[in-house]
Amino acid sequence: TGIYHSLVQLNEHQKIPSHPNLDIATYVLSHFPPPDKAEKQVAYIDSTTGRRLTYAQLHRSITSLASGLYHGLGLRKGDVVFILSPNSLLYPIICLAALHIGAIITTANPLNTEREIVKQVRDSRATLAISAPEETHKLLPTRVPILLTAKKDGQLSVEELIENCEYIEIPEAKPTQSDVAAILYSSGTTGTSKGVVLTHSNFISVVTLLKWSVDVTNARKDIFLCFIPIFHIYGLAFFGLGLVCTGNTIVLMKKYDFQEMLEAIEKHKVSNIPAVPSVILGLVKYNGGGRHYDLSSLRRVGSGAAPLSKEVIGKFRMKFPRVELRSGYGLTESCGATTLFSSDEEAEARPASSARLLPCFKAKVVDFETGLALPPYKEGELWLKSPTVMKGYLGNEEATAASFDSEGWLKTGDLCYFDDEGYVYIVDRIKELIKHNGYQVAPAELEAILLGHPHILDAAVIPMEDEAAGQIPVAYVVRADDAKLTEDQVIQFVNNKVAPYKKIRRVSFISAIPRSAAGKILRRDLISQSKHQMFSK
Ligand code: AMP
Repeated sequence: TGIYHSLVQLNEHQKIPSHPNLDIATYVLSHFPPPDKAEKQVAYIDSTTGRRLTYAQLHRSITSLASGLYHGLGLRKGDVVFILSPNSLLYPIICLAALHIGAIITTANPLNTEREIVKQVRDSRATLAISAPEETHKLLPTRVPILLTAKKDGQLSVEELIENCEYIEIPEAKPTQSDVAAILYSSGTTGTSKGVVLTHSNFISVVTLLKWSVDVTNARKDIFLCFIPIFHIYGLAFFGLGLVCTGNTIVLMKKYDFQEMLEAIEKHKVSNIPAVPSVILGLVKYNGGGRHYDLSSLRRVGSGAAPLSKEVIGKFRMKFPRVELRSGYGLTESCGATTLFSSDEEAEARPASSARLLPCFKAKVVDFETGLALPPYKEGELWLKSPTVMKGYLGNEEATAASFDSEGWLKTGDLCYFDDEGYVYIVDRIKELIKHNGYQVAPAELEAILLGHPHILDAAVIPMEDEAAGQIPVAYVVRADDAKLTEDQVIQFVNNKVAPYKKIRRVSFISAIPRSAAGKILRRDLISQSKHQMFSK
């Protein structure tokens, strides 16, 4: 039939709960260790301060904050809470407390500029912002009330609410599986950033699958290291929600830093690091740098969010023969996880593959021209169906309609093929999205900024391959006739307005942007042109 099914079935105990009256926070809390164990078992360790949070403290903090947000600040089911913070022990507490009330969380990269933040606050219709003290200035134009995460200058903070609020029953109806839980931003296949609407059911499903994956990979005793941002679905689903359901300990880093990662591995005897390709590359290139770190506790690393080359995998296995390396594929629109290697032997034998479908996933590989589902080894667009797939894009029926076919298949915008054993190989990205160090960069957003320059007539942004970052955004620009615009001026004009990871690194001037009859930028043409062309720098 051309449909690839997951080859694994969940048994009665592993199944995704189907009763409608369940929310993700209640589901997560119900998996915490029993009270006597919860007092001792450590859920999170702050890698900078060494502060530990036991499961019992985590539980109390979540319910106290939920109570403070509800009774103190009047937060209600359906209200949208904008979270702006780097990773911290407070981050998962904030998410779970808001979700417990039935509020909807929307998260953002703290590197984003004021312009980007204001846009997201308005688009998501957030009515409360919870912000790290150093980021609040970016929220001021929104006039949304701000609750600080950490204490500062006597202003109300999450820390204070946790300390001072007792849990008082929340009278309102609890959220149900079909209610919206989060709005995470992704560009999807085309255009600028859009709110991916994910329900409690989507998160309950992904957490159930992550729990299952921890069991099949025998990782319940692992000490995990997290520098993946919790604002991204990878961090939220895995480190904020999934791993606390398996009783694991997570060492939390504020953000990624190679040296600090090495220190944390040594200090906390980290055994498992779900990472991204640039981190794997960093480990491959690591030569001690004057100081020897004891990395002998490390047993597993993972790679997701962007492609990892076979060469890097080969070098990693040579250098760290005792460490398992597994790639996985996912996207925000399917709540993160999609595939898994359940053993290292499987992964080692197929370095180019991104593993097999998780339970409850179905896939089709669809031919662009004919729309037909393709057999193994034939390349086409990956389409997915699973209980983790989003409801749609917030307030954007057109983009939602374009992302699903009439039978509800999600079109991923990724080019792939399956082999005859059900392993998926991601070959290329056909959607516009550029990935810089695993972060999303939407070309349409940069193009809109470029077109705002008085001396730019037309512009297109495309990805250029880069060993360290995966891809970098580069621009093709058509100058107004008499303009003496330089590359540096264009770069500066854009880069002042966007987060560092979205920065344009190179500009090439061109007489016309290739466009289709309908006016769409022919990105493929530009990409192949760029591969043959020497940039001016
Ligand atoms: P995001 O929504 O930010 O997680 O981005 C999802 C996109 O990242 C996917 O649609 C792919 O284009 C890309 N991606 C994620 N994982 C992989 C992988 N293992 N190999 C290649 N590309 C990946």
